[in-house]
Amino acid sequence: MLKLDILVIAAHPDDAELGCGGTIASHVRQGKKVGIVDLTRGELGTRGTPEIRAREAEAAQKVLGLSVRENLGFSDAFFANDRAHQLALIQVIRKYQPDIILANAVEDRHPDHGRAAALVKESCFYAGLRKIETIYQDKPQQPWRPAQLYHFIQSNYINPDLIVDVSDSWEKKMEAIRCFESQFDGNNNPEEPQTFLTTPIFLQFVEARARELGHSIGVTYGEGFTIDKPIGLQSFYDIH
Ligand SMILES: [Zn+2]
Repeated sequence: MLKLDILVIAAHPDDAELGCGGTIASHVRQGKKVGIVDLTRGELGTRGTPEIRAREAEAAQKVLGLSVRENLGFSDAFFANDRAHQLALIQVIRKYQPDIILANAVEDRHPDHGRAAALVKESCFYAGLRKIETIYQDKPQQPWRPAQLYHFIQSNYINPDLIVDVSDSWEKKMEAIRCFESQFDGNNNPEEPQTFLTTPIFLQFVEARARELGHSIGVTYGEGFTIDKPIGLQSFYDIH
């Protein structure tokens, strides 16, 4: 059984890279085991196909050095925060037993992001209830509740509670984002509709956001998160 230190659960392939790719690369470099579970194949995206996006996600997995990446195949736009979807997530959380979960922003431009955030939050809690029984590979799973859940800030600006310094992993993040050629490279399949994502302005926006967040903690690049519950400290010197 593969135990992860950090599990990222995100609505669409590329959300994790855009929202917290630098944080992922940085923790992999620190020796942490990090995995991504994408909820949908992003099949309703204007450009690309589920097959292309699966290949792109695999390429980004290698760039980031993920221990695992899987896709739950939920329905893009139409997945719900209901019992069936919660049970699927409970199974995943118990399977990987992560200390920390990173999830979509609690509210964002794409409605799937906020819904995914609520689904992940509830599933994290329920995964710790022993009377909810789940089976994996013919064996009953043990209850597991991650110690912390953080929501990565993606499209809409949200005031961060935490900012991770990703200056040293910035190039890796951009390399991982560029793996999603169908989404962010207008020269790739130019016959498909161009979107805001395919213009150079989009990647400039990603960089500007990271520079702004980084600036506020005195570093070059930062990624912002909101917290789900208070963070405990023994010393103020544990943070800076
Ligand atoms: Zn998304």
